[in-house]
Amino acid sequence: MTTPEHDLETIDKMSLLHPASSVTDLRDNGPSIIKKGQGNFIFDTNNVRYLDAVAGLWCVNVGYGRQELADAMSSSAQNLGYYHSFSNASNADQILLGQELLRVAPQNLSKVFFGSGGSDANDTLLKIAWHYHAIRGNSKKVKIIARDQAYHGTSISTASLTGLPSFHKDYPLPLDFVLHTGCPHYYRFAQDGETETEFCDRLVSEVARLIEQEGADNIAAFIAEPIQAAGGIIVPPKGYFEKLHPLLKTNNILLIADEVVCGMGRLGHWFASPEFGMQPDMIALAKGLTSGYFPLSAAMISDDVYQVLLEGSAKHGAFYHGYTYSGHPVGAAVARANLALMHQENLLAKTRENGEYLHEKLRSEVLPHPLVGEIRGRGLLAGIQLVTNKQTRELPAPAQKWPQMLAAAIRAEGVIVRPLPSVATLAMSPPFTITREEIDIVITAILKALAAFK
Ligand code: PLP
Repeated sequence: MTTPEHDLETIDKMSLLHPASSVTDLRDNGPSIIKKGQGNFIFDTNNVRYLDAVAGLWCVNVGYGRQELADAMSSSAQNLGYYHSFSNASNADQILLGQELLRVAPQNLSKVFFGSGGSDANDTLLKIAWHYHAIRGNSKKVKIIARDQAYHGTSISTASLTGLPSFHKDYPLPLDFVLHTGCPHYYRFAQDGETETEFCDRLVSEVARLIEQEGADNIAAFIAEPIQAAGGIIVPPKGYFEKLHPLLKTNNILLIADEVVCGMGRLGHWFASPEFGMQPDMIALAKGLTSGYFPLSAAMISDDVYQVLLEGSAKHGAFYHGYTYSGHPVGAAVARANLALMHQENLLAKTRENGEYLHEKLRSEVLPHPLVGEIRGRGLLAGIQLVTNKQTRELPAPAQKWPQMLAAAIRAEGVIVRPLPSVATLAMSPPFTITREEIDIVITAILKALAAFK
């Protein structure tokens, strides 16, 4: 017997805490329960259909209700269900998934460590960076540079890396091994008359000063998303990573690319780092790895890093880190089926083509609106910057709740976009299976909501 929907709402309110949700809002307004997904659409308990232009939480890349992924999950669960990866234990699907990922990854990468989500992948990479430096006799190299407006997760260490104040307040965070440097958003943070190149140079000098101030001997790694997603879909200025690279190299600081959102095809290529001239020593993946159907992450390391771990292994002992669900066979089987679908349906090329179409529509139809200051992103990742005044580029105050109100109005038109309240931005990251007709539906809903917005 199924539980009636109104009972589910009551039970949810009585029983659950939700991530990144207001406790009073949940108590007063209840949850929004999604009961089904099909293709690029989700359905709520009243059977109202929404075109999901966010793909869940930037992850349902091959769309909802895919039989191929359900079959992979089912047969893997029936065959084994679970086995761990501690003490050299392994399973066929994680072995083959590792090989498949390395085949499409930047060539310097040579090993993969599987976990369950983006936060733990970043945690893993921090520990590997520390381990790497300790083996090389630099055990003081522990500080990590992250950027303002970054989002790297919400575990205690990754919330510290995250550069959004709401994830720190009321906690003793950020932890003191984390240093933050400027967000590379030219539109908002350029000084008067500063060109994009000058802005970029200023940011890089800021990092140079930070390294000098803290001492290169104390800094282990620099972590960055190729495009900052939850921080506002921030595309770095041209040359940013190319200019940072020699600075990091000379100071023996590892570069970690957090590709949890941007990787696995979101920008139209398997990996996003090369798109921005980033040459990371390590890469974190999650979300799109299984299109969100199973919690799985991959922490990938370069051969140079691996060689150091190998060299130090006898003296330093095992790499004491790992999770019960590391290398989960069911997750790995789902990821392999997901990669196969991406290949079969040519979803990288589709993402590039439809991404261009989406951006062209946003620029030509949404950008002219007086409350829209900038359109950002690449591939099927896009952000709409809301402003109170196009000339001064002033953002509405968070208390005005513009992104939330507009997202609600767009939802009333049958389309889901993601409000990013702290940066007055509406974000989109639709499934790679979205069609041009569906992109037109998204644009129409946004235009209608903007037109009615007071
Ligand atoms: N890194 C980035 C860039 C993310 O956007 C996220 C989540 O949105 C994470 C890490 C954390 O992933 P998870 O929520 O799976 O821990």
